[in-house]
Amino acid sequence: MKLNERQKKILQIVKENGPITGEQIASELSLTRATLRPDLSILTMTGMLEARPRVGYMYVGKKNASMLHEKLDTLTVGEFMSSAKVIHESMTVYDAIVHLFLEDVGSLFVVGNDHALVGVLSRKDFLRAAIGNQELDSLPVNIIMTRMPNLTVCEKTETLIGAGMKLIEKQIDSMPVVENSDGILKVVGRMTKTNMTKVLVALARDEEI
Ligand code: ADP
Repeated sequence: MKLNERQKKILQIVKENGPITGEQIASELSLTRATLRPDLSILTMTGMLEARPRVGYMYVGKKNASMLHEKLDTLTVGEFMSSAKVIHESMTVYDAIVHLFLEDVGSLFVVGNDHALVGVLSRKDFLRAAIGNQELDSLPVNIIMTRMPNLTVCEKTETLIGAGMKLIEKQIDSMPVVENSDGILKVVGRMTKTNMTKVLVALARDEEI
């Protein structure tokens, strides 16, 4: 939430002098208590200030923010990932497009014979192939996919924030969640911008996550 200048000043006063009454805050700002009422309501409703009867206003904004911070540090990819949608590298682009619709996803992960991750296909890859006058029903996906070693991946144990930063930095919508099994990268899940958005909404609603 964006605070106005007066709300910021009130927070500063309560932080330095709390607990402090509404009257005292008003006199610090050379304003009347009535003028401050809407600002004080907003600050208490959003949880930045706590109003204790007969005690006054106390600052809690910092506490909430650092609690959120601590909570975020404990959330991991494994808890929030979706199930992976993988296809074999020999599948035709046409069949993969059908797959994309049937699975209702924005990208597909591609594996080889040993089930090792070899590539990623996004909507743009399919569009590029579709406008390129190619035979989509005979062209295998491994010709058009983004391939190893250029893939961005994450692991179950990674923090959600770390994974979010990778998505932003690389400007991609999703990443395979992988497990290293004897040197082979196996796909165990999918971490997407939608997964991140769901967590954000749950945190904002203060849901148990
Ligand atoms: P869209 O095509 O819908 O914009 P993305 O932004 O995810 O979706 O994909 C953009 C490009 O980045 C595509 O060429 C895609 O193959 C590639 N890409 C997508 N995800 C990854 C990933 N995890 N690692 C490397 N490249 C990726």
